[in-house]
Amino acid sequence: MSTKTPQAIRGTQDIFGAEAEAFAHVVETFERVRKLYRFRRVEMPVFEKTEVFSRSIGETTDVVSKEMYSFEDRGGDSLTLRPEFTAGIARAFLTNGWQQHAPLKVATHGPLFRYERPQKGRYRQFHQIDAEIIGAGEPQADVELLVMADQLLKELGISDGVTLMLNTLGDGESREAWRAALVEYFRAVKDQLSEDSQERLEKNPLRILDSKDPRDKAFVGDAPKIDDFLSTEAQDFFGKVTSGLDAAGVEWTRAPSLVRGLDYYRHTAFEFVTDRLGAQGTVLGGGRYDGLMESLGGAPTPAVGWAAGIERLAMLVADAGTAQAARFDAAIIPMDEAGLPLANRAARLLRDQWNSVEIFATGKFKKRLSRANEGGALLAIIIGEDELASGDVTVKDLHGGEQVRVSLDGLADAMSQAQNAQWLRDSGIPTDDA
Ligand code: ATP
Ligand code: MG
Repeated sequence: MSTKTPQAIRGTQDIFGAEAEAFAHVVETFERVRKLYRFRRVEMPVFEKTEVFSRSIGETTDVVSKEMYSFEDRGGDSLTLRPEFTAGIARAFLTNGWQQHAPLKVATHGPLFRYERPQKGRYRQFHQIDAEIIGAGEPQADVELLVMADQLLKELGISDGVTLMLNTLGDGESREAWRAALVEYFRAVKDQLSEDSQERLEKNPLRILDSKDPRDKAFVGDAPKIDDFLSTEAQDFFGKVTSGLDAAGVEWTRAPSLVRGLDYYRHTAFEFVTDRLGAQGTVLGGGRYDGLMESLGGAPTPAVGWAAGIERLAMLVADAGTAQAARFDAAIIPMDEAGLPLANRAARLLRDQWNSVEIFATGKFKKRLSRANEGGALLAIIIGEDELASGDVTVKDLHGGEQVRVSLDGLADAMSQAQNAQWLRDSGIPTDDA
């Protein structure tokens, strides 16, 4: 048997410390915001039959052709660890008869898996928050999702320096005409394109616009624009999306070459991008996928959605310092083991009232006090011999310096007094003794 400790899988992360706090902050904020917009929570399987993804995302995409974690299970079925949420949610919509809830607004978060080259902001197991509106064909659904994304970024304190890039891919007819023009344009310069894009040219020419290869980028600027091919209906649809955004105060920038990597998009396509994350600058992306349900054998069902990388959002949150600075209500320090029962009683009493409490039970007293300070405790509650004899505790405000003796009955009051004093200090309102 080997005695060597196995290493983690390349491209996975063990998230701890400040990064884990920022990650949790993103998820908690998303939960608050999705409730504001009345999206219902769903929990989805981490794996699906491979065809769920190959049929809906499209065989010619990078995700399906190169990035999926697919394997045969013991029963001989081909399964795939989900590389995105949308396909699985669409499958669930059809297999559970969720049509009865349409228009259905759902939200979820969790891990996704893609075999990519790991680098900053790009992992093989990563996490997304995700929001979808299924069974809604009107531009108001697109507007609502975009307003929600905009508010999420504001609540996270990272909206400065993140820009909404917006495009339309038109309806089926507009998209086909545009596609034909793109093929003609790129065919003329075919031998100067990257190998990948030469291949995309026949199968999926829109994807050339999405290429990160500088050889392709050189030609993207002058490529035919969707605007020249939009049907009146598609123009009208896009106009309603942009006027909705303007009404709700969402700033946006038109990005005429923006396409989404996945095949099923129609009409609205968008990304929220930043230059603060290097090459991995897209934090949130999505659009309308009216063609998806049919590719899974369902009735035509219009839908729109977005997903955002939690790790990328968490990096911005950490940089902006907008996650709550570490702080908690009370550190309870019994001088020795005899003080533990009183410590446990005091802790339960405070926690029942929703105060965050940690008991520092071991180590030298001074060391414990400094750990409490470093951890950001507001109060230190000290239980020594005197206190044990009387049943009182000593309460020290670690920020204001006040020290008092109180009975357990008075502890909750002492706690709220200290919280009020802290609130006054935080808000910069001068106090009498200042
Ligand atoms: P990219 O162009 O960066 O590869 P994408 O178009 O493949 O992104 P989507 O499939 O639209 O990304 O996923 C939405 C979001 O999920 C991205 O904007 C990003 O924040 C995040 N994301 C995608 N792939 C990864 C990954 N491998 N690691 C970390 N986050 C990711
Ligand atoms: Mg990708």
